[in-house]
Amino acid sequence: MTTAAQAIARLKAYDGPSLSIMEVCGTHTHEIFRQGIRSLLPPQVRLISGPGCPVCVTPVDYIDEAVMLALDFGATICTFGDLVRVPGSTMSLADARGRGARIQVVYAPQDAVAYAAAHPDEAVVFLAVGFETTTPAACLAVQAAAARGLANFSLLTANKTMPGAYEAMKDSTDLFLYPGHVHAITGTGDCETLARKGVSGVVAGFTSAELVTALAVAVTRAARGEAFFVNCYPRVVRPEGSPAARKLMAATMAPCDARWRGIGVIPNSGLRLKDAFADFDARKKFVLPALTGRENPACRCGEVLQGKCLPGDCPVFGKGCTPAHPVGACMVSSEGACSAYYLYGRDA
Ligand code: SF4
Repeated sequence: MTTAAQAIARLKAYDGPSLSIMEVCGTHTHEIFRQGIRSLLPPQVRLISGPGCPVCVTPVDYIDEAVMLALDFGATICTFGDLVRVPGSTMSLADARGRGARIQVVYAPQDAVAYAAAHPDEAVVFLAVGFETTTPAACLAVQAAAARGLANFSLLTANKTMPGAYEAMKDSTDLFLYPGHVHAITGTGDCETLARKGVSGVVAGFTSAELVTALAVAVTRAARGEAFFVNCYPRVVRPEGSPAARKLMAATMAPCDARWRGIGVIPNSGLRLKDAFADFDARKKFVLPALTGRENPACRCGEVLQGKCLPGDCPVFGKGCTPAHPVGACMVSSEGACSAYYLYGRDA
């Protein structure tokens, strides 16, 4: 068994070629900064951000849809707090609230179901964003609403799945630091398949010991020059993942193409409600028109999310764009790369 001290020594001793490692998960970006792990990396190892922050990859037209539901259709929007300040084409949900919209911050989809049950005169829409980690909770909420016959509850879905993103990002990095909580649900089959196709990576946990171990394994295996996959988070991630969570998702949602902020449409990388739950699909219920969002042209979130630039390369980073006055989603979200660089490493 490798101790954290041994992992740090292996990490520091790396003398192989330059290596880019994509932190797929925004929580990894924040934790690696917060725990000072960047200072342990040899200079030729570069960490780049990836598309694993659900709020960050949600496209601007989704915010526009939520604003339209709130202001034009009078719906009550229930959402996680991060989404409230993400800029839309013309305004954020916080701005809409200033114009009289009902925006409720909740901590779980079930809270939105409870709100709908307690407010039968309001049309309640829960903003369902997230990856395989959080989507099962949204599915449970819909099933609970169906079981209770709640006609005033629906989801505005922007749920996404990671395998398509790995395919889209595989040429942008030398290897992936895979998100542990996603693979606790999906298992390790996708990573093993990618390794057989020449795409390397390690699944990592979130403590300092787990992160330095995963990074040490990554650089050690990369130095051998062969594609690899190692599960460095076995206490949580099992090869089979969580069959019960996947069964719940498969019963409630179906794959669809999805637009990722700055990346574009990735085939079959999204989830929509199955036809059996059409009554709980806000787009169908309110007959929402197709919207075309307009990104702020100054924002380089799209490139940050693909590891093509660092937040500091954005001309408005830390000037026009700060956590208090965000221009893009990556500065708003608690998992966003720009907020991580602003909070912990403006000189990184
Ligand atoms: Fe977008 Fe702000 Fe990040 Fe620039 S610093 S990429 S404007 S979120």
